[in-house]
Amino acid sequence: MAEIIGVKTPQGILDLITAKELGAEIGGANLPIYCDNSPESLAILRHSSAHLLAQAVAILYPDAQFFVGPVVEEGFYYDFKTSAKISEDDLKTIEKTMKKLAAQARPIEKSRAAKSAATLKYQNDPLKTEVLSRIESEEVSFYKQGAFEDLCRGPHAPNTKFLANVKLTKLAGAYLGGDSSREMLTRVYGIAFADSEALKTWETQMAEAMRRDHRKLGNDLNLFKFTDEIGGGLAIWLPNGARLRSKLEELSFKAHKRRGYEPVRGPEILKSALWDKSGHIKNYGENMYFTEIDEIQYGLKPMNCVGHIAVYESETRSFRDLPLKFFEFGTVHRHEQSGVLHGLLRVREFTQDDAHIFCREDQIAEEIEKILEFIDRLMSLFDFKYTLTLSTKPAKAIGDDRLWVKSTEAIESVLKKHGEYMIDEGGGAFYGPKIDVKITDAIGRKWQCGTVQVDMNLPERFDLHYTNAANERVRPVMLHRAMMGSMERFIAILIEHYGGELPFFIAPTQVAIVPIGEAHNAYAREIANELTLNEIDVKIYDRDDSLAKKIKNAEKTKVPYIIVLGDEEVKNRLVALRDRRERTQETMSFSDFTAKCATQINKETL
Ligand SMILES: [Zn+2]
Ligand SMILES: [Zn+2]
Repeated sequence: MAEIIGVKTPQGILDLITAKELGAEIGGANLPIYCDNSPESLAILRHSSAHLLAQAVAILYPDAQFFVGPVVEEGFYYDFKTSAKISEDDLKTIEKTMKKLAAQARPIEKSRAAKSAATLKYQNDPLKTEVLSRIESEEVSFYKQGAFEDLCRGPHAPNTKFLANVKLTKLAGAYLGGDSSREMLTRVYGIAFADSEALKTWETQMAEAMRRDHRKLGNDLNLFKFTDEIGGGLAIWLPNGARLRSKLEELSFKAHKRRGYEPVRGPEILKSALWDKSGHIKNYGENMYFTEIDEIQYGLKPMNCVGHIAVYESETRSFRDLPLKFFEFGTVHRHEQSGVLHGLLRVREFTQDDAHIFCREDQIAEEIEKILEFIDRLMSLFDFKYTLTLSTKPAKAIGDDRLWVKSTEAIESVLKKHGEYMIDEGGGAFYGPKIDVKITDAIGRKWQCGTVQVDMNLPERFDLHYTNAANERVRPVMLHRAMMGSMERFIAILIEHYGGELPFFIAPTQVAIVPIGEAHNAYAREIANELTLNEIDVKIYDRDDSLAKKIKNAEKTKVPYIIVLGDEEVKNRLVALRDRRERTQETMSFSDFTAKCATQINKETL
C-alpha cells in the first residue's frame, strides 16, 4: 500500500505536514491522498520536486536567489537567478544532485512566522522580498528539508524520499513575474511521478512525440519551412508540402461540392468600418492587422464570415433558397505573440476550410446533423477518434439572451441524438454557442480542430433577411463551420499522427521510380508520364548511384511505393513493386499497378 502524503478535506487539499499540524484526522469526510499518480498526489509531489530543484541549485550555485516554483500542466518549474551561466548540460548535474538529496530521505518540516519577521529575514533577498509583497496574509509558512528552507504555503510531501522519480526537462528564460520590463530569471522545468514505471512510460511517450514532431519531419521530408527573413509564424510550403496540401484541398473541395456547398471567395482585406459593423474590432481587434489605403483604414480578415455575408447580400433571398452553403479555403491572419508560435500548429497566417450556412431557424438542427455526418466521415478517413464538446455562452458575449438560449438548445438536441458529448460552460465564441471537435491521434494526444457555431447575431448586425411564404422579411440564421479547421494545423497533426508515413492517397510523392541502370531510364520516364496523367505524384531516381543507394534515398522520403525497373520489367512492361508500409515485394504488370493506385485513391473519398 502506498504511503499517505496528504488529506483531501471538504475545505481543500492539505499536505500531511499541515494536516498533522492542524490535527486533521483522516477518515469521515477527510480522504487520504496516497503517494500515487493521481492528480492530487502528483500536484504535491511535483511542487515538492520544485523545492528539491531549488535545494540542488542552492548547493551547486551558492549565490542563487529564488523566486517561485509552481506546478504547471506538464510538471513544475522554478525561477531563480545566479551569476553562473546555466546550460542544458548543467541540468544533468542538477538532476543528479536532486536524486542524491531524495535518496537521503530527509523529513520535510513546516514552520510559521509573522510576515514582518519574514520581511526582515529576506531583507537582502530582492526576489523573496518580491514574493512577500504579493502575499496578503499576515502569517507566512516555511518548508525546510536538510539545510534548505523556502518560503511557501505548500503543499509538500512529508519526506524527500517520495521525490526519487524526477526528471528535469527544459531550460528557459522568464521575466520576473512575467513582466517584460523586469529582469530575466533562469527557469528550469521538470516532471515527477510517484513511481519509476510512470516516469519510464512518460519518457517513452516523450521520445515518441519527439520522433513524430512535425517540425522535425517537415524538415526531413522537405515539406515546409519558416525563415527569420520572411517572419515568424509565416510558413513557406515547399513542393512536397504543397502537394500534400493540395491533395487535402482537392478531397475537401469535392466533398463540399457533393454536399451542396457553393465555392465563393471574399477579399483578404476589407474596410475597418465593416469590421466595426461585424463587432470584430471590439471583440477581436487586438488579434487583427490593419493597413491604410487612400487614408481609409482596412483590416486583414481574421475570419471569413464578412465576405460570405456579402455573397448572401448579393441577391434577394427567398425561403425556398435556404439553406445556402458558401464554402472557401479562406486565408486569415491573426496576431499571435512570438512566444506561442509553434511550427504549423500556431502560425500568424493560415487557411481554413471554412463555410457559412444561411438557413431558417427550423433548419438549424438538420444542418448541424449534416455537418456532424461530414465530420464523422473526415475523422474516419484518417483513423482519428474524436469527441464533441458543446461550449456555452462566455462572459464576454454579444447578442441577446433569447437567441443564445434558442441556438444552444438546437445544438443540444442534435448532440443528444448523435451520442456522447461534453459541455464546456462559458467556452463559447463571443457571438454564439459552438461545438468543438477534439481529435485523438495515434499516440493518444488530443487536438482541437474543427468547430460548428450557431450565430444569430451577425445576421442581425448586417440586417440580413429573406422573404417567407407570406412575403414577409425574416432574419436567417448563420452557421459558421470548419472541418479540418486550419489546414496548417491539421497537416501538422496528420504528420505527427502518421509519424510522417502519410497514406498513399495524400502522400506528397506516391511512387518512387528506380531504374536499375541507364538502359532503363526511358521506360522509367514513360511510366512516370503515364502515372502523372493519372494524377499520381512520382519521382524518378535516375542519378548515377548504386541500386541500393537509390532505394535508400527513396525510402528516406517515406514514399509508400517504390518500383524498381530492370531488363525483365522493360521487356515485359512490368514493375517490381516494394510496398514500404507493408514490407512486401511483388512483380506485376504496369497496367495492374496503375489500376491498384487508382483503386487506392478512389476508395479514400470524403
Ligand atoms: Zn513549496
Ligand atoms: Zn465565420
